[in-house]
Amino acid sequence: MVGITFAEHVHYTDTFPGGNKYCIKVSKQIHRITMLSFEQARQIILENIASAGIEQISLADAAGRVLAEDIVAPWDMPMWDNSAMDGYAVRSNDCGKIPCKLTMTGYIPAGALADGVEVKPGCAVKIMTGAPLPSGADAVAPIEETEENPGEQVTINEPVKANQHIRFRGEDVLAGERITATGTIIRPPEVSMLASFGRVLVSVYSRPIVAILSTGDELIEVGRTPGAGEIVNSNTLTLAAAVREAGAIPRIIGIARDNHDSHLNKLREGLKADVLVTSAGVSAGDLDLVRIVLEELGVKQMFWKVNIKPGKPIAFGLKDNKPVFSLPGNPVSSMITFEEFVRPALLRMMGQRQVIRPTFKAILRDDVKNKAGDRTTFLRIRLERKDKLFYVSTSGKQQSGLLKTMVNATAIAVIPPGRGFMAAGEEVDVHFFGDYIELLEEPR
Ligand code: AMP
Ligand code: MG
Repeated sequence: MVGITFAEHVHYTDTFPGGNKYCIKVSKQIHRITMLSFEQARQIILENIASAGIEQISLADAAGRVLAEDIVAPWDMPMWDNSAMDGYAVRSNDCGKIPCKLTMTGYIPAGALADGVEVKPGCAVKIMTGAPLPSGADAVAPIEETEENPGEQVTINEPVKANQHIRFRGEDVLAGERITATGTIIRPPEVSMLASFGRVLVSVYSRPIVAILSTGDELIEVGRTPGAGEIVNSNTLTLAAAVREAGAIPRIIGIARDNHDSHLNKLREGLKADVLVTSAGVSAGDLDLVRIVLEELGVKQMFWKVNIKPGKPIAFGLKDNKPVFSLPGNPVSSMITFEEFVRPALLRMMGQRQVIRPTFKAILRDDVKNKAGDRTTFLRIRLERKDKLFYVSTSGKQQSGLLKTMVNATAIAVIPPGRGFMAAGEEVDVHFFGDYIELLEEPR
């Protein structure tokens, strides 16, 4: 990676009263870095991401959040030896010959104590699941394998082995054992364990607030029918959905128009959040003001342009420690760059250990011709499984302006640079797109 500082002509665009645009050309020194590879760019981002902080929340609200503490068992689980079945606590030695008759001398329902209750030779104590095992007993005969007779007698009809149907104290977890570590996503099993240990509050990583700003004079808000030259601002809601799916909190800033003041106001507002994500206005067009105004606002550009397709013009900067992502405007490019760069950053801020989606190999069904063969290319694909192997078929045309192939895609194939042509039958790296895993089993 090489840093170059050079003079660049910057166009400040603004609007005269009456609506006509004017342009001022300013020469300024801009620090730029030669085009990075996909992996280098993601590494720079992840190296510059700090934790979003820690908060205590109710266990009732903790599902999906990331633990910010190690959880150590405060007591043994189970806390005492207890019955795993409804049945009879017995001495296994008494049941050498089947059927055997025993005298019933007590009853311990769930929730009762076994203090002072003893199973004496030749005797049995009726016991319910979860109830503490009385002294003297070393096995439980399930009720289904017994018969209760008149006169407090019970017949055991099946062989009884020592220790059968007993849950022993500490068998699951011992006091002092570390059950789960910081960085773990809290799923229902973690909730269950924490609840079993009486935890009401739990420390988790905070969810960053992510400002989302669209830019462009052509944009109109969702709900209006576009007139000539107008484009519906779909990126704002798309990125908000992606932010939410990653577990962070979107804050919609709206649309910055293609003039300096509008960019200044909206970007300034966006920088109040924990993370700022913009879309469009980051290429080399006359009205692409995002990077220029971000620099004015004190955002240090870490890189601009990555050797990928789609999404090459992406920029990443930092205002103090606050990450600022300038994504390209094409809906497909903004979604893919969010997926590959912003999502891992948000997961890292939220303390997750695995911030990059697991990648696995799949086999190309068809030849792939890639005009941008010198770049890392993200193909929108569908995954199929046949005879235990995964197959890739593209979800349609791959131009970055085409949204339908994104909707039809269930996964992304990552083609490394230098592969302008890949033949059917070759293996590629793939990862699922979004949190919903869909796979066509045994396709036609
Ligand atoms: P730009 O990066 O500004 O050159 O925009 C590239 C393309 O993305 C243009 O066709 C824009 O109209 C389109 N675009 C930009 N912003 C949005 C948005 N918020 N929603 C949908 N399309 C957009
Ligand atoms: Mg634009």
